[in-house]
Amino acid sequence: MIILVINAGSSSLKYQLYNMNGESVIANGRVERIGMDSSIVIHEPTGKQEVSLVREILDHNTAVKRVIDLLMHPEHGVLGSIDEIKAVGHRVVHGGEIFKQSTIVTDEVKLEIRKLFDLAPLHNPPALMGIAAVEANMGDVKQVVVFDTAFHQSMPQETFLYPIPMVLYRRHKIRRYGFHGTSHNYVSRKAAKVLNKPLESLKMVSCHIGNGASCTAILNGKSYDTSMGLTPLEGLMMGTRSGDLDPAIVPFTMNKEELTLNEVNSMLNKHSGMLAISGISSDMREITEAMQEGDKQAKLAFDMYTYRLRKYIGAYAAAMNGIDVLVFTAGVGENSVVLRKTVCDGLTFLGIELDEERNGERSKEARVISSAESRVTVMVVPTNEELLIARDTYTLVREQV
Ligand code: AMP
Repeated sequence: MIILVINAGSSSLKYQLYNMNGESVIANGRVERIGMDSSIVIHEPTGKQEVSLVREILDHNTAVKRVIDLLMHPEHGVLGSIDEIKAVGHRVVHGGEIFKQSTIVTDEVKLEIRKLFDLAPLHNPPALMGIAAVEANMGDVKQVVVFDTAFHQSMPQETFLYPIPMVLYRRHKIRRYGFHGTSHNYVSRKAAKVLNKPLESLKMVSCHIGNGASCTAILNGKSYDTSMGLTPLEGLMMGTRSGDLDPAIVPFTMNKEELTLNEVNSMLNKHSGMLAISGISSDMREITEAMQEGDKQAKLAFDMYTYRLRKYIGAYAAAMNGIDVLVFTAGVGENSVVLRKTVCDGLTFLGIELDEERNGERSKEARVISSAESRVTVMVVPTNEELLIARDTYTLVREQV
């Protein structure tokens, strides 16, 4: 069965086309700068030449049209007919408390996603635009939505509630939702599979560290606690996001600097984190290079970043009364040898011991990087959110098409 996976952002749309027979990627690509002048389409058909085009693409509808044209293009295409695509899976950031798992798109589901616009004003509207664009261009093909928050819906009240008046939860659903759930879900399953142990038997901490970063405590195979909260601002220090801080800093800064709420919000989301401390970049590669060349601010940014990550891993080990497996994933987690070493060298009290040679290996495979003596198994597991979306889509539609 052929399945198209779509990840629609406000001005971008990424896609992957899977043949579920063998779970192979037939083509992937992205449309960037939707709604701006000179949009860019990059299309990579597996085994053929990559195509890059500049076109006027004013909305998501046209973006999907262009993607379909390329998938069926006589030279760059991979399909004979659009009907070969049996289902489309969409990434949706916020599923609120309604969506505890992936689901087939219906009018009611679309209405519920719309009701959640308040909680994810930047992310949920484009997802709905992506669904409408598929309806407009692909007739009544089955569509499935997969939510970043769904995996964390297993959290108990004591971990998802904030200690603020309960009325705020009852009226506005202010609580911890957590994000990157599709990634934490994928890597925890993959880690258990590689270790050949039932996931339910493992106490696991997974660290998804990329531009955005979050840590999840996985107990009995379910998310028990996670570092991101009502929004993806809470938790770890990130590229441009502050992560945890004293909430009183918000009114204090507004007062001292005469800033509006929007300005403080933008400061914490876009001008904080590694970028603010290093004064150089939000990109871990550039920070690491600058640090190795002796830049003091870059070193401070790296030290703060790894210190905060270590605190979360320790906290989650305490929260679960133990830890069997520690997983690193996403851009930084999968690639930064020095970050993994710095974090793990500060966690020897938990019985964590890295194998330096394994940690230094370059590989795209999920693998163990701890020593044979280590009490905790440390792993690098490349994430693959698109594959999990394709799998969920396949599972939900296979009886129906
Ligand atoms: P992601 O959001 O998962 O794509 O991750 C992006 C982050 O991964 C950026 O901060 C990159 O600097 C970081 N990254 C990618 N490759 C490396 C690398 N080889 N070493 C350190 N950081 C890296």
